[in-house]
Amino acid sequence: MARIGFLGLGNMGMPMAQNLLKAGHAVAGFDVVAASLGKLNAAGGTAAASVAQACAGAEVVITMLPAIQQVRDVYLDPQGVIASAAPGALLIDSSTIDVDTARAVSTAAEARGLAMLDAPVSGGIAGAHAASLTFMVGGSAAAFGRAKPILEQMGKTIVHAGPAGNGQAAKICNNMILGVSMIAVSEAFLLAGKLGLDAQTLFDISSKSSGQCWSMTSYCPVPGPVPASPANRDYQAGFTAAMMLKDLNLSQDAAAAAGAATPMGAQAAALYADYCGRGEAGKDFSGIIQMLRGAP
Ligand code: NAD
Repeated sequence: MARIGFLGLGNMGMPMAQNLLKAGHAVAGFDVVAASLGKLNAAGGTAAASVAQACAGAEVVITMLPAIQQVRDVYLDPQGVIASAAPGALLIDSSTIDVDTARAVSTAAEARGLAMLDAPVSGGIAGAHAASLTFMVGGSAAAFGRAKPILEQMGKTIVHAGPAGNGQAAKICNNMILGVSMIAVSEAFLLAGKLGLDAQTLFDISSKSSGQCWSMTSYCPVPGPVPASPANRDYQAGFTAAMMLKDLNLSQDAAAAAGAATPMGAQAAALYADYCGRGEAGKDFSGIIQMLRGAP
Protein backbone atom coordinates (compact mmCIF):
# COMPACT_ATOMS: atom_id res chain seq x y z
CA MET A 1 0.00 0.00 0.00
CA ALA A 2 1.27 3.44 -0.90
CA ARG A 3 1.77 6.65 1.06
CA ILE A 4 -0.19 9.25 -0.89
CA GLY A 5 -0.31 13.06 -0.58
CA PHE A 6 -3.65 14.46 -1.80
CA LEU A 7 -4.11 18.18 -2.50
CA GLY A 8 -7.54 19.66 -3.24
CA LEU A 9 -10.27 17.92 -1.23
CA GLY A 10 -13.32 19.44 -2.94
CA ASN A 11 -16.35 17.90 -4.64
CA MET A 12 -14.16 15.50 -6.61
CA GLY A 13 -10.98 15.24 -4.55
CA MET A 14 -12.64 14.23 -1.27
CA PRO A 15 -14.43 11.13 -2.58
CA MET A 16 -11.34 10.18 -4.60
CA ALA A 17 -9.19 10.40 -1.46
CA GLN A 18 -11.82 8.43 0.47
CA ASN A 19 -11.64 5.64 -2.13
CA LEU A 20 -7.86 5.49 -1.75
CA LEU A 21 -8.32 5.16 2.02
CA LYS A 22 -10.90 2.39 1.52
CA ALA A 23 -8.34 0.56 -0.65
CA GLY A 24 -5.90 0.63 2.27
CA HIS A 25 -3.55 3.44 1.22
CA ALA A 26 -2.25 6.00 3.74
CA VAL A 27 -3.49 9.43 2.62
CA ALA A 28 -2.18 12.76 3.93
CA GLY A 29 -4.35 15.55 2.53
CA PHE A 30 -4.33 19.32 2.36
CA ASP A 31 -6.93 21.87 1.29
CA VAL A 32 -7.15 25.62 1.89
CA VAL A 33 -10.68 25.01 3.25
CA ALA A 34 -10.20 23.78 6.82
CA ALA A 35 -13.55 21.93 6.97
CA SER A 36 -12.29 19.47 4.34
CA LEU A 37 -9.42 18.44 6.60
CA GLY A 38 -11.79 17.34 9.37
CA LYS A 39 -13.72 15.27 6.84
CA LEU A 40 -10.52 13.57 5.67
CA ASN A 41 -9.56 12.78 9.29
CA ALA A 42 -13.01 11.29 9.89
CA ALA A 43 -12.48 9.02 6.86
CA GLY A 44 -9.20 7.71 8.29
CA GLY A 45 -6.78 10.05 6.54
CA THR A 46 -4.27 12.49 7.98
CA ALA A 47 -4.82 16.24 7.77
CA ALA A 48 -1.66 18.08 6.68
CA ALA A 49 -1.00 21.71 7.58
CA SER A 50 0.48 22.64 4.19
CA VAL A 51 1.24 21.42 0.67
CA ALA A 52 4.79 20.61 1.79
CA GLN A 53 3.60 18.57 4.77
CA ALA A 54 1.19 16.54 2.60
CA CYS A 55 4.07 15.78 0.21
CA ALA A 56 6.57 14.79 2.93
CA GLY A 57 7.44 11.12 2.51
CA ALA A 58 4.68 10.51 -0.06
CA GLU A 59 5.43 8.02 -2.84
CA VAL A 60 2.59 9.47 -4.93
CA VAL A 61 1.17 13.02 -4.88
CA ILE A 62 -2.26 13.60 -6.45
CA THR A 63 -3.81 17.03 -7.06
CA MET A 64 -7.48 17.82 -7.80
CA LEU A 65 -7.58 21.62 -7.99
CA PRO A 66 -10.04 24.11 -9.52
CA ALA A 67 -8.07 25.58 -12.44
CA ILE A 68 -4.77 26.66 -14.03
CA GLN A 69 -3.74 29.25 -11.43
CA GLN A 70 -4.09 26.88 -8.47
CA VAL A 71 -2.16 24.18 -10.34
CA ARG A 72 0.67 26.63 -11.09
CA ASP A 73 0.73 27.83 -7.46
CA VAL A 74 0.55 24.40 -5.85
CA TYR A 75 3.24 22.85 -8.08
CA LEU A 76 5.65 25.72 -8.79
CA ASP A 77 5.63 27.68 -5.52
CA PRO A 78 8.97 27.53 -3.62
CA GLN A 79 7.05 25.57 -0.92
CA GLY A 80 5.05 23.69 -3.58
CA VAL A 81 4.83 20.09 -4.73
CA ILE A 82 7.86 20.06 -7.02
CA ALA A 83 10.10 21.60 -4.35
CA SER A 84 8.70 19.43 -1.54
CA ALA A 85 8.15 15.99 -3.08
CA ALA A 86 10.35 13.15 -1.92
CA PRO A 87 12.97 11.91 -4.43
CA GLY A 88 11.38 9.40 -6.79
CA ALA A 89 7.80 10.48 -6.00
CA LEU A 90 5.23 10.19 -8.78
CA LEU A 91 3.11 13.33 -9.34
CA ILE A 92 -0.41 13.06 -10.81
CA ASP A 93 -2.52 16.13 -11.61
CA SER A 94 -6.19 15.26 -12.16
CA SER A 95 -7.43 18.88 -12.40
CA THR A 96 -8.78 20.03 -15.77
CA ILE A 97 -6.37 22.67 -17.15
CA ASP A 98 -4.82 23.73 -20.47
CA VAL A 99 -2.36 21.57 -22.37
CA ASP A 100 0.49 24.13 -22.26
CA THR A 101 0.41 24.49 -18.46
CA ALA A 102 0.26 20.71 -18.06
CA ARG A 103 3.36 20.37 -20.26
CA ALA A 104 5.20 23.25 -18.49
CA VAL A 105 4.56 21.82 -15.00
CA SER A 106 5.59 18.34 -16.17
CA THR A 107 8.84 19.75 -17.57
CA ALA A 108 9.53 21.52 -14.25
CA ALA A 109 8.91 18.25 -12.37
CA GLU A 110 11.23 16.32 -14.69
CA ALA A 111 13.95 18.94 -14.13
CA ARG A 112 13.92 17.83 -10.48
CA GLY A 113 13.91 14.16 -11.48
CA LEU A 114 10.22 13.65 -10.67
CA ALA A 115 7.88 11.75 -13.00
CA MET A 116 4.60 13.55 -13.66
CA LEU A 117 1.31 12.69 -15.35
CA ASP A 118 -1.67 14.82 -16.33
CA ALA A 119 -4.68 12.61 -15.58
CA PRO A 120 -7.94 14.57 -15.84
CA VAL A 121 -11.17 12.69 -15.30
CA SER A 122 -14.64 12.24 -16.68
CA GLY A 123 -17.61 10.87 -14.75
CA GLY A 124 -18.45 13.69 -12.36
CA ILE A 125 -19.11 13.56 -8.65
CA ALA A 126 -21.14 10.34 -8.95
CA GLY A 127 -18.18 8.68 -10.67
CA ALA A 128 -15.79 10.02 -8.02
CA HIS A 129 -17.93 8.49 -5.24
CA ALA A 130 -18.45 5.19 -7.07
CA ALA A 131 -14.76 4.89 -8.07
CA SER A 132 -15.92 4.61 -11.67
CA LEU A 133 -14.12 7.63 -13.17
CA THR A 134 -12.45 7.59 -16.57
CA PHE A 135 -8.83 8.80 -16.36
CA MET A 136 -7.21 10.15 -19.55
CA VAL A 137 -3.51 10.16 -18.91
CA GLY A 138 -0.60 12.04 -20.49
CA GLY A 139 3.04 11.25 -19.69
CA SER A 140 5.64 8.53 -20.08
CA ALA A 141 4.64 4.88 -20.39
CA ALA A 142 6.77 4.06 -17.33
CA ALA A 143 4.98 6.65 -15.16
CA PHE A 144 1.62 5.46 -16.50
CA GLY A 145 2.50 1.89 -15.47
CA ARG A 146 3.29 3.07 -11.92
CA ALA A 147 0.10 5.16 -11.68
CA LYS A 148 -2.38 2.64 -13.11
CA PRO A 149 -2.88 0.50 -9.97
CA ILE A 150 -3.53 3.68 -7.93
CA LEU A 151 -5.88 5.20 -10.51
CA GLU A 152 -7.78 1.89 -10.64
CA GLN A 153 -8.82 2.46 -7.01
CA MET A 154 -10.63 5.65 -8.14
CA GLY A 155 -11.74 4.79 -11.66
CA LYS A 156 -12.86 2.03 -14.02
CA THR A 157 -11.38 3.17 -17.32
CA ILE A 158 -7.73 4.23 -17.32
CA VAL A 159 -6.40 5.25 -20.75
CA HIS A 160 -2.87 6.27 -21.72
CA ALA A 161 -3.44 9.12 -24.20
CA GLY A 162 0.24 9.73 -25.07
CA PRO A 163 2.97 12.09 -23.85
CA ALA A 164 2.58 14.93 -21.31
CA GLY A 165 -0.42 17.16 -22.02
CA ASN A 166 -2.32 14.57 -24.06
CA GLY A 167 -4.59 13.72 -21.12
CA GLN A 168 -5.70 17.35 -21.03
CA ALA A 169 -6.08 17.40 -24.83
CA ALA A 170 -8.48 14.42 -24.56
CA LYS A 171 -10.41 16.03 -21.70
CA ILE A 172 -10.85 19.37 -23.51
CA CYS A 173 -12.11 17.63 -26.67
CA ASN A 174 -14.46 15.38 -24.68
CA ASN A 175 -15.99 18.30 -22.79
CA MET A 176 -16.45 20.33 -25.96
CA ILE A 177 -18.61 17.43 -27.20
CA LEU A 178 -20.46 17.44 -23.85
CA GLY A 179 -21.19 21.20 -23.86
CA VAL A 180 -22.41 21.15 -27.46
CA SER A 181 -24.49 17.99 -26.96
CA MET A 182 -26.16 19.31 -23.78
CA ILE A 183 -27.36 22.37 -25.69
CA ALA A 184 -28.51 20.24 -28.63
CA VAL A 185 -30.48 17.88 -26.35
CA SER A 186 -32.01 20.84 -24.49
CA GLU A 187 -33.11 22.46 -27.77
CA ALA A 188 -34.67 19.18 -28.92
CA PHE A 189 -36.74 18.79 -25.74
CA LEU A 190 -37.90 22.42 -25.94
CA LEU A 191 -38.87 22.04 -29.61
CA ALA A 192 -40.68 18.75 -28.85
CA GLY A 193 -42.73 20.50 -26.16
CA LYS A 194 -43.77 23.23 -28.59
CA LEU A 195 -44.76 20.55 -31.13
CA GLY A 196 -46.96 18.72 -28.63
CA LEU A 197 -44.59 15.79 -28.04
CA ASP A 198 -44.05 15.02 -24.37
CA ALA A 199 -40.56 14.66 -22.88
CA GLN A 200 -40.85 11.00 -21.90
CA THR A 201 -41.96 10.02 -25.41
CA LEU A 202 -39.09 11.90 -27.04
CA PHE A 203 -36.73 10.26 -24.56
CA ASP A 204 -38.09 6.76 -25.24
CA ILE A 205 -37.59 7.26 -28.98
CA SER A 206 -34.34 9.27 -29.11
CA SER A 207 -32.55 7.26 -26.44
CA LYS A 208 -32.91 4.28 -28.82
CA SER A 209 -32.30 6.28 -32.01
CA SER A 210 -29.50 8.20 -33.66
CA GLY A 211 -29.92 11.20 -31.32
CA GLN A 212 -28.80 9.07 -28.38
CA CYS A 213 -25.93 10.55 -26.34
CA TRP A 214 -24.75 10.83 -22.70
CA SER A 215 -26.38 14.26 -22.27
CA MET A 216 -29.70 12.58 -22.97
CA THR A 217 -29.45 9.12 -21.43
CA SER A 218 -27.36 9.84 -18.30
CA TYR A 219 -27.94 13.52 -17.65
CA CYS A 220 -31.27 14.39 -19.26
CA PRO A 221 -31.90 18.18 -18.87
CA VAL A 222 -35.67 17.78 -18.33
CA PRO A 223 -37.11 16.25 -15.14
CA GLY A 224 -38.52 12.72 -15.36
CA PRO A 225 -36.81 10.44 -17.86
CA VAL A 226 -33.52 10.04 -15.92
CA PRO A 227 -34.39 10.22 -12.20
CA ALA A 228 -30.78 10.78 -11.07
CA SER A 229 -30.20 13.80 -13.34
CA PRO A 230 -29.87 17.31 -11.77
CA ALA A 231 -33.06 18.40 -13.62
CA ASN A 232 -34.96 16.50 -10.91
CA ARG A 233 -33.45 18.61 -8.12
CA ASP A 234 -33.74 22.14 -9.50
CA TYR A 235 -30.42 21.85 -11.35
CA GLN A 236 -28.41 21.62 -8.14
CA ALA A 237 -24.86 21.16 -9.40
CA GLY A 238 -23.08 17.98 -10.04
CA PHE A 239 -20.95 19.76 -12.65
CA THR A 240 -21.42 23.53 -12.54
CA ALA A 241 -22.08 25.80 -15.51
CA ALA A 242 -18.93 27.69 -14.44
CA MET A 243 -16.83 24.51 -14.82
CA MET A 244 -18.38 23.83 -18.23
CA LEU A 245 -17.62 27.40 -19.31
CA LYS A 246 -14.05 26.96 -18.09
CA ASP A 247 -13.63 23.78 -20.16
CA LEU A 248 -15.25 25.30 -23.26
CA ASN A 249 -12.95 28.31 -23.00
CA LEU A 250 -9.98 25.94 -22.74
CA SER A 251 -11.18 24.21 -25.91
CA GLN A 252 -11.53 27.54 -27.73
CA ASP A 253 -8.08 28.75 -26.63
CA ALA A 254 -6.61 25.44 -27.79
CA ALA A 255 -8.51 25.59 -31.09
CA ALA A 256 -7.28 29.13 -31.76
CA ALA A 257 -3.68 28.20 -30.98
CA ALA A 258 -3.86 25.04 -33.12
CA GLY A 259 -5.78 26.63 -36.01
CA ALA A 260 -8.72 24.21 -35.67
CA ALA A 261 -12.23 25.29 -36.73
CA THR A 262 -14.74 24.67 -33.89
CA PRO A 263 -17.79 26.84 -34.67
CA MET A 264 -20.17 24.73 -32.54
CA GLY A 265 -17.71 24.78 -29.64
CA ALA A 266 -17.50 28.57 -29.98
CA GLN A 267 -21.27 28.90 -29.95
CA ALA A 268 -21.54 26.64 -26.88
CA ALA A 269 -18.91 28.75 -25.08
CA ALA A 270 -20.87 31.93 -25.89
CA LEU A 271 -24.15 30.42 -24.62
CA TYR A 272 -22.55 29.19 -21.37
CA ALA A 273 -20.94 32.62 -20.86
CA ASP A 274 -24.42 34.15 -21.24
CA TYR A 275 -25.92 31.63 -18.79
CA CYS A 276 -23.17 32.18 -16.19
CA GLY A 277 -23.48 35.96 -16.65
CA ARG A 278 -27.11 35.74 -15.50
CA GLY A 279 -26.01 34.65 -12.02
CA GLU A 280 -26.40 30.93 -12.80
CA ALA A 281 -22.70 29.94 -12.74
CA GLY A 282 -23.22 27.74 -9.66
CA LYS A 283 -26.12 25.81 -11.18
CA ASP A 284 -25.62 22.50 -12.90
CA PHE A 285 -24.58 22.89 -16.54
CA SER A 286 -27.77 21.13 -17.68
CA GLY A 287 -29.70 24.11 -16.25
CA ILE A 288 -28.87 25.96 -19.49
CA ILE A 289 -32.20 24.56 -20.74
CA GLN A 290 -33.91 27.11 -18.49
CA MET A 291 -32.18 29.98 -20.29
CA LEU A 292 -32.99 28.48 -23.69
CA ARG A 293 -36.62 28.17 -22.56
CA GLY A 294 -36.50 31.90 -21.78
CA ALA A 295 -36.77 31.46 -18.01
CA PRO A 296 -33.30 31.33 -16.40
P1 NAD B 1 -13.86 22.07 -6.10
O1 NAD B 1 -13.78 23.54 -6.20
O2 NAD B 1 -15.02 21.43 -5.40
O3 NAD B 1 -12.53 21.49 -5.40
C1 NAD B 1 -11.25 22.06 -5.54
C2 NAD B 1 -10.61 22.10 -4.18
O4 NAD B 1 -9.29 22.63 -4.28
C3 NAD B 1 -11.37 23.01 -3.19
O5 NAD B 1 -11.70 22.28 -2.02
C4 NAD B 1 -10.37 24.12 -2.89
O6 NAD B 1 -10.47 24.65 -1.59
C5 NAD B 1 -9.06 23.40 -3.13
N1 NAD B 1 -7.93 24.30 -3.33
C6 NAD B 1 -7.89 25.47 -4.03
N2 NAD B 1 -6.67 26.01 -3.96
C7 NAD B 1 -5.91 25.17 -3.21
C8 NAD B 1 -4.56 25.19 -2.77
N3 NAD B 1 -3.75 26.20 -3.09
N4 NAD B 1 -4.13 24.18 -2.00
C9 NAD B 1 -4.95 23.16 -1.65
N5 NAD B 1 -6.24 23.09 -2.03
C10 NAD B 1 -6.71 24.09 -2.80
O7 NAD B 1 -13.75 21.52 -7.60
P2 NAD B 1 -14.11 20.05 -8.12
O8 NAD B 1 -15.50 20.00 -8.60
O9 NAD B 1 -13.63 19.06 -7.11
O10 NAD B 1 -13.19 20.01 -9.43
C11 NAD B 1 -11.77 19.84 -9.34
C12 NAD B 1 -11.22 19.69 -10.75
O11 NAD B 1 -11.83 18.56 -11.37
C13 NAD B 1 -11.50 20.90 -11.66
O12 NAD B 1 -10.36 21.16 -12.42
C14 NAD B 1 -12.68 20.43 -12.51
O13 NAD B 1 -12.69 21.07 -13.78
C15 NAD B 1 -12.40 18.95 -12.61
N6 NAD B 1 -13.61 18.13 -12.83
C16 NAD B 1 -14.73 18.33 -12.07
C17 NAD B 1 -15.85 17.53 -12.30
C18 NAD B 1 -17.13 17.72 -11.50
O14 NAD B 1 -18.16 17.11 -11.86
N7 NAD B 1 -17.13 18.52 -10.42
C19 NAD B 1 -15.82 16.53 -13.28
C20 NAD B 1 -14.64 16.31 -13.98
C21 NAD B 1 -13.54 17.13 -13.75
